[in-house]
Amino acid sequence: MIALVLVEHEGGQLKDATLATVTAASKLGEVHLLVAGENVGGVAEEAARIAGVAKVHVADNAAYAHGLAENVAPLVVELMQHCDAFLAPATTTGKNIAPRVAALLDVMQISDILSVEGPDTFTRPIYAGNAIATVQSSDARKVITVRGTAFEKAAKEGGSATIEQTGGTGDTGLSSFVGQEVAHSERPELTSANIIVSGGRALGSSEQFHALIDPLADKLGAAVGASRAAVDAGYAPNDYQVGQTGKIVAPEVYIAVGISGAIQHLAGMKDSKTIVAINKDEDAPIFQVADIGLVGDLFKLVPELTEKL
Ligand code: FAD
Repeated sequence: MIALVLVEHEGGQLKDATLATVTAASKLGEVHLLVAGENVGGVAEEAARIAGVAKVHVADNAAYAHGLAENVAPLVVELMQHCDAFLAPATTTGKNIAPRVAALLDVMQISDILSVEGPDTFTRPIYAGNAIATVQSSDARKVITVRGTAFEKAAKEGGSATIEQTGGTGDTGLSSFVGQEVAHSERPELTSANIIVSGGRALGSSEQFHALIDPLADKLGAAVGASRAAVDAGYAPNDYQVGQTGKIVAPEVYIAVGISGAIQHLAGMKDSKTIVAINKDEDAPIFQVADIGLVGDLFKLVPELTEKL
């Protein structure tokens, strides 16, 4: 079986989400990668060094410069003539491209898998992660998105895959790139950070959110996250959101500040190795999953903690 993995990259660098997807793909069979973009020779070489990869297909074409799903999906479909499964990380990019591939191949997508139980059998979360379903697909070709936190990352070095250029299908003319606004941060990326400090509604305003959460995160070299309530209230940008409708994270340490622990928030962070909760309500549900709990007023505790660090 050949499993084709979509390589996520940005600014000429391969993104970590790809590595966990490679591990998932390796449980299905021979791993091939697809690098689509413009001037992506460096990314292709980086991809070829990932342990366990047999072949890297490179589609270097202006049509793929911005990763438009309308252009990338037909390219994947073309490569799927020789592959049995297509796997993409369950990120916004993967979730944009994989459903189109599934539709074009006329197969069901298997979303957000947590494990590979066999060539056609997978587990995936349902009910916001409160139950795990085992699903079996009878489709001849599988289209799968992979939850990155559920699989070990493949080693970045150690492989020596062959690199093969592919012309691809080019611009379908269905969409065009207008522009993008990218938030730049010196902090680690939320989904690959070792430590995350997340703030909730209790922070009360954007000013207080940044005045309390940012210094603590900076002291710890942590990424900053937020609950949906904090995002909806405008205290934190949308891409900070952790949870069922935000990002799924599993860092070594997750510090939840003024977050109640609603199931939709827990769905995004409960697999964190150590959970620390700061909340003034000792009955807050977050304490049911927390390894370390601090009951008290965050406006007093957080500056104290930051200072002591
Ligand atoms: P609250 O629930 O209001 O909790 C605030 C907490 O702060 C309370 O526990 C309170 O005791 C504590 N507090 C108040 N003042 C202080 C103080 N001074 N010091 C210390 N503690 C204090 N939510 C997400 O986070 N992510 C998602 O992806 C997500 N997806 C959703 C999807 C759906 C379909 C739905 C219906 C909801 C979703 N939600 C999500 C929303 C979720 O249900 C909660 O409403 C949200 O997580 C609550 O955010 P919060 O904990 O910041 O706020």
